[in-house]
Amino acid sequence: MQTDGCGQQPLQMEMETEEEEASIPVVKEPPKIHRLDESVVNRIAAGEVIQRPVSAVKELVENSLDADSTSINVVVKDGGLKLIQVSDDGHGIRYEDLPILCERHTTSKLSAFEDLQSIKSMGFRGEALASMTYVGHVTVTTITKGQLHGYRVTYRDGVMEHEPKACAAVKGTQIMIENLFYNMTARRKTLQNSADDYLKIVDLLSRFAIHHINVNFSCRKHGAARADVHSVATSSRLDAIRSVYGVSVARNLMKIEASDNDPSSSVFEMAGFISNSNYVAKKITMVLFINERLVECTALKRAIEVVYAATLPKASKPFIYMSIVLPPEHVDVNVHPTKREVSLLSQEVIIEKIQLEVESKLRNSNEARTFQEQMVQPSPSSAIGSTKDSQLNSSVSGSKSQKIPVHKMVRTDSLDPAGRLHSYLQVKSLSQLEKDSGLNAVRSSVRQRRNPKETADLTSIQELISDIDSNCHSGLLDIVRHCTYIGMADDVFALLQHNTHLYLANVVNLSKELMYQQVLRRFAHFNAIQLSDPAPLPELIMLALKEEDSDPECNGNDVLKEKIAEMNTELLKQKAEMLDEYFCIHIDIHGNLSRLPVILDQYTPDMDRVPEFVLCLGNDVDWEDEKNCFQAISAALGNFYAMDLPLLPNPTGDGVQFYRKRKPFGNPDDEENSTSNMEGDVVMEDEIDHELLSEAETVWAQREWSIQHVLFPSMRLFLKPPTSMATNGTFVQVILITLNQFLIFLAYLKA
Ligand code: ADP
Ligand code: MG
Repeated sequence: MQTDGCGQQPLQMEMETEEEEASIPVVKEPPKIHRLDESVVNRIAAGEVIQRPVSAVKELVENSLDADSTSINVVVKDGGLKLIQVSDDGHGIRYEDLPILCERHTTSKLSAFEDLQSIKSMGFRGEALASMTYVGHVTVTTITKGQLHGYRVTYRDGVMEHEPKACAAVKGTQIMIENLFYNMTARRKTLQNSADDYLKIVDLLSRFAIHHINVNFSCRKHGAARADVHSVATSSRLDAIRSVYGVSVARNLMKIEASDNDPSSSVFEMAGFISNSNYVAKKITMVLFINERLVECTALKRAIEVVYAATLPKASKPFIYMSIVLPPEHVDVNVHPTKREVSLLSQEVIIEKIQLEVESKLRNSNEARTFQEQMVQPSPSSAIGSTKDSQLNSSVSGSKSQKIPVHKMVRTDSLDPAGRLHSYLQVKSLSQLEKDSGLNAVRSSVRQRRNPKETADLTSIQELISDIDSNCHSGLLDIVRHCTYIGMADDVFALLQHNTHLYLANVVNLSKELMYQQVLRRFAHFNAIQLSDPAPLPELIMLALKEEDSDPECNGNDVLKEKIAEMNTELLKQKAEMLDEYFCIHIDIHGNLSRLPVILDQYTPDMDRVPEFVLCLGNDVDWEDEKNCFQAISAALGNFYAMDLPLLPNPTGDGVQFYRKRKPFGNPDDEENSTSNMEGDVVMEDEIDHELLSEAETVWAQREWSIQHVLFPSMRLFLKPPTSMATNGTFVQVILITLNQFLIFLAYLKA
């Protein structure tokens, strides 16, 4: 731990010594190991705990919260490098404790290791204040209850610089850090150049302020009259969010709750607020507290982002505030030196449950909204054949004129028992055509507002989408929307639970269909995946053709293949403009494929399948008929993006055989291939191609991750399963009688 992340300073010290020794002839003897000077150790550790000014502020504010303060004020000068001052009205520090206050490992919060299991305070390592004295000048002013005056004392390198001086003081403690990193030139330099440290501090205080709503927070620049964060204690979380993040955020939030109390799966309670689909932002804001600790949890954040990415218009990211409470013994708080991350018992289950809840909130809010829109905008009866112009007119004028007073919108929807949501709903334009299709409608209406000219309202697309809707199997829809993903039963089938039933679902078929549907829904509104190396179409098509006839006899036909490749390339170059505009498939004038569409966010297709896809575009698309053409292209994309089996066999189980190196026995050429086997005695393990194996492991693990965290959440939101799926083996109900039988069934599947 002392060499890891020790910051730039220690590194620099090492380099300097090396330079000095560079002139001395190289000595081969091992260097002598010696004990580091105490002050060096402390400074290294300090650099780890206090990485930036904002980490110091976090530690100080947490100390103030631990001291039961109700008011915490922060003043910052020069991004925190010149001055950080945190004043609170907490219980103060006793006079007798001042001499050891800033020594390492002095704390009032923990005595035995076991206490960690039930620790309620934020601090416990007794390192923060000590660290600050090793990298800055610390002054503490404090007064405890019942005292007539307070004390002030300054610290350096863990010790008091003088006896505490009596002084006038107001209730609580003020801690001042001056000249942070004064003795760490490199770090100071990097930080001086970055302008955003103050912003980071403001961001931190904002987060604390919306969680600890019974505490007044303020944060200002030194000398500034106005505070950049200013929160007043309140009993309403939403009020706190409004005062810190603004009306535009608070207006678009929905309350969310989830919990579980089943020790065999998970035990937790979550409450918070999440943004609805009206909220627009470029960056995700995720404020997460776990057992009162401000922490990060990348897995949870990604899981939620996936759900939003599929729902919100392009580039819009959610605002999330969540507080999760678990039994203290289920949380390991001691996994990160700055306590920024924690690890949880049954983290996967908890994340999945929360993800589901977010999803259903979003869906309900969207459905409620569509309903709302129908209420306030009685529909002129128009059918699918309505012209582009009339649609545009109605939607554009709709968005301008429909300003419904908020009070009239409250509780018009009896379907939503909560009702309260509606005070935040805004009426959005919506063309009559799309009204029936839930989420779709909302997304399309958003698109229309953003870019009415470009709206993809080609009749053929609308027809294809309504084909999907009318062909949807309601029973399967219910399963897809409300199932719980249990895991992969084998390479192709996922095991799902729906009510009391278990199902096996073919993820290849499902993903193919979902991708197809999403292409139609996102038609002409794709984000792009940029290929790092543009791929020449002729080569791709040649590859695919060669793959197609694996019969070596036919290899003589290369000339013919080249001809086909050339013709197809020409054809696709002619269609390039349309492919680009509607499907984000970009082919440049030289016939290189350089861009592909994002169909589901956070998911890129298996690039090994590009050749097949390009060939399919060239061969299978009927370019004459608009509807057929769009359908075929969408289907080709669907096949390409489907979560099919990776080309490398699954390395678990028997699949591992594939990764054994096929070494011809006794072959003299052997040496070249097996330089690692110097000893001559061949160990079984060494025969495995580890590089390929680990590549395969990564690919398969990624696929599984995508299935669980991208495919299933998106399916719940968007998939309209076609009736054919009920009979073509995509869904198979598992008749489960005993666990034993189930296990036998699994074994049977694997065989
Ligand atoms: P930790 O918080 O891990 O105990 P610190 O170095 O942050 O370690 O603080 C050391 C001790 O100083 C705390 O345990 C606490 O008793 C005391 N302390 C620090 N800041 C304050 C404060 N603002 N008010 C009261 N006591 C404080
Ligand atoms: Mg502390």
